Amino acid sequence: MSVDQVLMAESFVVHGRDEGGPFVLVSDHAGRAIPPELGDLGLSAQERARHIGWDIGIDGVGRKLADLLPAVLIEQVYSRLVIDCNRAPGHPTSIVQVSDGTTVPRNQNISAQDRAWREQTILHPYHARIRQELDAHVAAGRQTVVVALHSFTPSMHGKQRPWHAGLLHNHDSRLARIMIALLQKDGLVVGDNEPYALTDTSDYTIPQHGEQRELPHIEIEIRQDLIADDAGQTEWANRLARLLPQAWQQFCEQYGENA
Ligand SMILES: [Zn+2]
Repeated sequence: MSVDQVLMAESFVVHGRDEGGPFVLVSDHAGRAIPPELGDLGLSAQERARHIGWDIGIDGVGRKLADLLPAVLIEQVYSRLVIDCNRAPGHPTSIVQVSDGTTVPRNQNISAQDRAWREQTILHPYHARIRQELDAHVAAGRQTVVVALHSFTPSMHGKQRPWHAGLLHNHDSRLARIMIALLQKDGLVVGDNEPYALTDTSDYTIPQHGEQRELPHIEIEIRQDLIADDAGQTEWANRLARLLPQAWQQFCEQYGENA
């Protein structure tokens, strides 16, 4: 079996370990598997390996970061072409028909039954596992910070993107602003709600688990060419393992631990 057709018992994998730290890491787009029931979605292996299928490089960054902090990382196993776990159920781009110019044959005119199956086997168990992790933190009276990890393509629609990384934020920008400043101090070009802006409908994970629960949160996007290989993934994991605790310390000093 190829790497993108492994049958998983669950729609998520849990990496890292909990040693009492505040961070809970989530990777909505780390995986590229396709359930055997859906074949290859009608796409070539080359198309499935493209950024339309997954966030290239973020699997390595997330796993290394989970080991370094340490923290628990909940990672989605399936390709976002099957169902996008950072979209609300029923969202127009939850199950994309066309992505970055590529038509996804198996996603055309899908039945309500197919849609419900994808939601119940992939989307809901993943978010239930995140909820379970956060519930356990909160029940234990622990500090809890949700960190959503993503990567973005160096160019889109022929335009180069200048940022090394971007922070996406909306209703609670406090931790994002601290993190932007820390990354800039590292000499990086940092997008502020670039290359995407976080809105109530654009994303699902941070609105659900961060904003609605009023838990401090970070949504970070890293440019894919910087984390394409092991060395780049290690560099970024080390950077985030250094800066996330600094950002959280500054947050607590400015706003209080339970702000
Ligand atoms: Zn992503």
